[in-house]
Amino acid sequence: MALQPLDQWLARRMGQSVVPSRQELREWQLDRLREIISHARSGSPFYARHLADAKPEAIATLDDFSRLPMIGPDHLRDAPERLLCVSQDEIARVVTVQTSGTTGPAKRMFQTADDLEATVDYFAWGMANIVVPGRTTLVLMPGDRPDGVGRLLGAALARIGVRTVAHGVMENVETALGQCLDEGAHCVVGCPAHLNMLARAWERRGLPQGRVESVLLCWDAVPDTVARNCARIFGCRVFRHWGMIETGLGGAVECAPGSGLHLRETDVYLEIVDPDTGQVLPDGEFGEMVVTTPLKRGMPLIRYRTGDMGRILRGACSCASPLRRLDPLVWRISDGVNIGERTLTLRALSECLYALPGLDDFAAWFGQGVLRIGACGGSGLSAAVASALADLPAVVQGLVSGALGLEIETRSNGAPAIAGLGKRCLKILGEKDQ
Ligand SMILES: [Zn+2]
Repeated sequence: MALQPLDQWLARRMGQSVVPSRQELREWQLDRLREIISHARSGSPFYARHLADAKPEAIATLDDFSRLPMIGPDHLRDAPERLLCVSQDEIARVVTVQTSGTTGPAKRMFQTADDLEATVDYFAWGMANIVVPGRTTLVLMPGDRPDGVGRLLGAALARIGVRTVAHGVMENVETALGQCLDEGAHCVVGCPAHLNMLARAWERRGLPQGRVESVLLCWDAVPDTVARNCARIFGCRVFRHWGMIETGLGGAVECAPGSGLHLRETDVYLEIVDPDTGQVLPDGEFGEMVVTTPLKRGMPLIRYRTGDMGRILRGACSCASPLRRLDPLVWRISDGVNIGERTLTLRALSECLYALPGLDDFAAWFGQGVLRIGACGGSGLSAAVASALADLPAVVQGLVSGALGLEIETRSNGAPAIAGLGKRCLKILGEKDQ
């Protein structure tokens, strides 16, 4: 039987012809982690101080590695140059990330040409499970900048003989649907909110199942309801991806629908820690995701706290890959607002609202005791949203006690609820936003 593409990628990335065992992969990871510590200590004055006590030869096990100090998003905001381990001349791209809903300096990440090539290579092998050569993929990701995510994905697809139609970030669902149909796209790649809109528009037009053969949901947390909507309406296979700018975009992807997301373990070493104590948690337990990028020579991250919660699934995948799997359930630690004694999360809102047949997309804001929902979709949406929210304990209790007011705005102009491609969050309103 042919090796599955992610295992072929793994063996090549490790520079060997056979797929490693889990144990061999762990030993290889430990060697790379030692190397990157040594490289960082000698190349970056910051890391030299930060990891002064971390002598690579003293790190005998992965548990030893997990005792090193962590860094966080502030390190990428304040003076990211300090994390550079090569000269600025070797940097091919600087990515600036302004987290939605926050002010202050943006995070900046520096990438070398090798980093970009590694991402294209990973995308190519990951997409090989999702779309077949000779087919067409519609990409609803930004494609305007060289080396941006849309361009890297297009380059990856070209390597495996797949034609890319670069739509760019979806601004209007009818335009995107028109292009999807005109170009005969077999696969669509985009964020969950936009794919949900596309699926609902597909359904409203009564278009047939089976034309779109696969969907890749990426860029943001994937609500189960959106994955189900896409699978049911398109009649297609739905894959999920997790990644962040900090991991070089690629991070983990499913080998088959529902498999769990195989981690990009050569390039991204993931630990799950208790967010309060920093203690590493065993597989199967949810905690904060902490990443290390052992193959990035330019700006390696060593034990970077992502602010995302997730867990590694126990046991092996049915594909038998040695790559561990991330549970698709990933959320921001800061996701949630307190209403009385209960917490309302974006996750709960997403699962509840995307299940509504008439709802294409939504945005949510909270402030001064009022939850405001901006919903896009068909007619009668306002009553449907109010009724669905009544299933959420935090909302019901807030309404009953009088602690919560509800405002629902609806529109149906084909535009997503939030312009652009920021990661979704439950926005907390300050007074100036009211
Ligand atoms: Zn698998």
